Amino acid sequence: MFNNSYSKELQIVHAALSEAALLCRSVQERVAITKGDRSPVTIADFGSQALVCRTLREAFPDDPIIAEEDSTLLRSDAQTELRETLGQQLEVIRPGTSMKSALKWIDYGNAETYSDRFWTLDPIDGTKGFLRKGQFAVALALIIEGEVAVAGLACPNLDYNIFLAATGCGARLGDSPLRVSTAEDLEHARICESVESSHSAHQDVERVVGHLGIAAKRKRLDSQAKYAVVASGDAEIYMRLPTRKDYVERIWDHAAGALLLTEAGGKVTDCAGKELDFSCGKGLEHNHGIIGTNGEVHDEVIEALKILKIGQS
Ligand code: AMP
Ligand code: MG
Repeated sequence: MFNNSYSKELQIVHAALSEAALLCRSVQERVAITKGDRSPVTIADFGSQALVCRTLREAFPDDPIIAEEDSTLLRSDAQTELRETLGQQLEVIRPGTSMKSALKWIDYGNAETYSDRFWTLDPIDGTKGFLRKGQFAVALALIIEGEVAVAGLACPNLDYNIFLAATGCGARLGDSPLRVSTAEDLEHARICESVESSHSAHQDVERVVGHLGIAAKRKRLDSQAKYAVVASGDAEIYMRLPTRKDYVERIWDHAAGALLLTEAGGKVTDCAGKELDFSCGKGLEHNHGIIGTNGEVHDEVIEALKILKIGQS
């Protein structure tokens, strides 16, 4: 696959994501439970996190994992049914798994703080997309000394293969190298953005589009599938413009996608043109918004954001 010093990590990422993607595809019950922060979570989020964390812990016992979910909600008395359904789903993939083990595996992902080598996982990125049978991703990345070193993205509704990247070694989908588009012409630049207007300010994207004279239609899709679309050359720009000043982007929403796009020849910064800083723990504390492009049009987009005073903190 890749001939480099991260070959074991890439092999494990591939195995972990394949298993998680299988579970996500087999979960038919697309019912959401509301978490404390009012965001939705499903059986597939918990199942995916359990499987990926178990595989990582077995292969790299000393590596901390900062993952999105924890088992608190699942352990509550009110969630017997949820636990039963999760047990049935895991039985399909890993027969004989006890609920006690599954809860323990989920909590392998409960590291909170930055360390020199750690993994970050979004077991289902774009849960709202998963619920509406749109795009979602299982996103996994290894961060070493604040830089994303290895990335894997499974987007079961985009492609059955898994997107992989390692720093300095390029990005792949299955056996095919990924390459961004070479288009420099802003008028025809294709843009991806969130479906949810609460995750990215659609009106501000409209202002940028107007300012730059972009004529192409915008694609709305959930999850880090947006990074994969730009990395594959099917769009030139991913814009994620802040909806409020105090929102801090989560590392698991961007680490995997950002390396994938950079290794495919693209560029990823925040709205002010600053590199993403993965050294603050769970949040991208020093960044505002996200701009991912094929590289060719990056500076012009950042310049437009400056002029329009969007996402400049
Ligand atoms: P997307 O599918 O690209 O819209 O992004 C989904 C992710 O948005 C979720 O995993 C959340 O962590 C994240 N999210 C939640 N609230 C916000 C917000 N106000 N701004 C940006 N991202 C958010
Ligand atoms: Mg997410």
